Amino acid sequence: MKYVLVTGGVVSGLGKGVTASSIGVVLEACGLRVTSIKIDPYLNTDAGTMSPFEHGEVFVLDDGGEVDLDLGNYERFLDVTLTKDNNITTGKIYQSVLDKERKGDYLGKTVQVVPHITDAIKDWIESVSLIPVDGKEGQADVCVIELGGTVGDIESMPFIEALRQLSFSVGQENFCLIHVSLIPVLGVVGEQKTKPTQHSVRELRALGLTPHFLACRSAQPLLEATKAKLSQFCHVPAANILNIHDVPNIWHVPLLLRNQNAHHSILKQLNLTSVAMAPHLD
Ligand code: ADP
Repeated sequence: MKYVLVTGGVVSGLGKGVTASSIGVVLEACGLRVTSIKIDPYLNTDAGTMSPFEHGEVFVLDDGGEVDLDLGNYERFLDVTLTKDNNITTGKIYQSVLDKERKGDYLGKTVQVVPHITDAIKDWIESVSLIPVDGKEGQADVCVIELGGTVGDIESMPFIEALRQLSFSVGQENFCLIHVSLIPVLGVVGEQKTKPTQHSVRELRALGLTPHFLACRSAQPLLEATKAKLSQFCHVPAANILNIHDVPNIWHVPLLLRNQNAHHSILKQLNLTSVAMAPHLD
């Protein structure tokens, strides 16, 4: 199984869900089978009891799972049917570990965030990614994992650590990290600012994860000079700096990625160039 992890930096509500779904669309258009997992680092076991004003409306899956609306994006973009297990929350993970603790599964051991919570996260991701969601038999080729929240949040730390361990255990060519970040423009100066992104990449690297791609959210397309600066200071090749500026309709985002040959670079990172075909996306 190949994993594409999508994280977010600087602010929430950047468009991680739309970016992750669009990456899935582009990979599917290359003939690959894609599944997805959304991680929500809150303590609620699901989104069913949360006000729609907090995270948007609750999306109800075919199996009755009440989940974040990003899973609706995945189902619509990728034409898949997800299960409630495709949405991981801190609440679900803790509940499963605490149930095991009460059953005596860890008898004699001190149950801790590391390794018990992090192991539960890794096991959950590895087993759910194997479940086919496109109506065909056998496992998907790629699992797109979206980590909700913003890198550096206390809530997401166990997930970051579990994903760091996962990236190490599956190996370089099975793991691709795409960091979605904000490139603001300051009013009168009119300059695209890279510093918030530099800081969030530094934070990610301090936690043991190095982004292979930057997906830059900005009002206008990125300037070449901005790309060059990001590449130099964030340690990401310029070809892997993706420009996801504001578009009038989110269905344009997969085309934006295709036009920048993002699929080519992602497939290269995942060593999938020999099995994939040119994307059909019109
Ligand atoms: P996150 O997952 O980071 O919270 P979402 O994917 O839910 O963010 O997107 C937040 C909002 O931004 C949504 O209303 C979405 O339609 C919008 N959005 C995302 N990407 C773009 C884009 N490239 N252009 C315009 N709007 C976008």
